[in-house]
Amino acid sequence: MTTILFLAWGLSPAADPAAYVTYRTGTSPIILSAPHGGTLPVPGVGVRTGFAVAQFVTVRDTGSDDVALAVAKALETKTGRGPHLVVAKFARTYIDANRPADDAYEWKAAAPVYAVYHKALADAKATVAKDWGRGLLLDLHGQGADPNAIFRGTNDGKSVTHLTDRFGRAGLTGPSGVLGGLERAGYKVVPAGDSKDKEDPRYGGGYITRTYGSRDGGTVDAIQLELGTSMRSAAKRERFARDLADAVIVYAKEYLPEKPKAGP
Ligand SMILES: [Zn+2]
Repeated sequence: MTTILFLAWGLSPAADPAAYVTYRTGTSPIILSAPHGGTLPVPGVGVRTGFAVAQFVTVRDTGSDDVALAVAKALETKTGRGPHLVVAKFARTYIDANRPADDAYEWKAAAPVYAVYHKALADAKATVAKDWGRGLLLDLHGQGADPNAIFRGTNDGKSVTHLTDRFGRAGLTGPSGVLGGLERAGYKVVPAGDSKDKEDPRYGGGYITRTYGSRDGGTVDAIQLELGTSMRSAAKRERFARDLADAVIVYAKEYLPEKPKAGP
């Protein structure tokens, strides 16, 4: 009886998996991802328990979804070109999109929603590679270890292999790199500047940067940014979004094609 009612109201498991992900296709070589800011439960999906899962975390990256939306808006306003945007509406307690499928969820009904998130990233990456030749994915997260820090995650450089092969280390940490731009704007970046320190293993890049960056080839690089609470708070996120957008614009001018291969 319950099942029949749920079906009648369109609330059956995975009735509309796409409703749990914000996906906007962009007109620029930039992709923004925010997998951990969502709050929605997913019908038919139970809370994850973490049995036999490595690196089990269910905490929400509060505000990281709003930061992604604000950065997208700032980029579009400043450049006339919106980024590709993939933002989870589902809560991490049910699905962790920054893990391989086997570790990401425990209920079958979660699979179509997880697949929507990853198809969006894959489609965005393919579109950027086809239309622009090269691009950058920023995977936005939140960390609670240092409220004022931004931890860099590139799987210790692997997810930006294309960038650093072509332009050297400066593409990542130099003045026109995204991290360099954030430092110039006054933010504390860890590891700092071009220090030889390894990335913090807690924040050094996850499944998304490994999968959609240039670790295994390709021309789209990926950087995970783990933002402290001060950058995600309602009072400061707009300002941070503008600063990150500015850093991305400087990066794009220096390291990405000025125009798409065809069209406007
Ligand atoms: Zn996260």
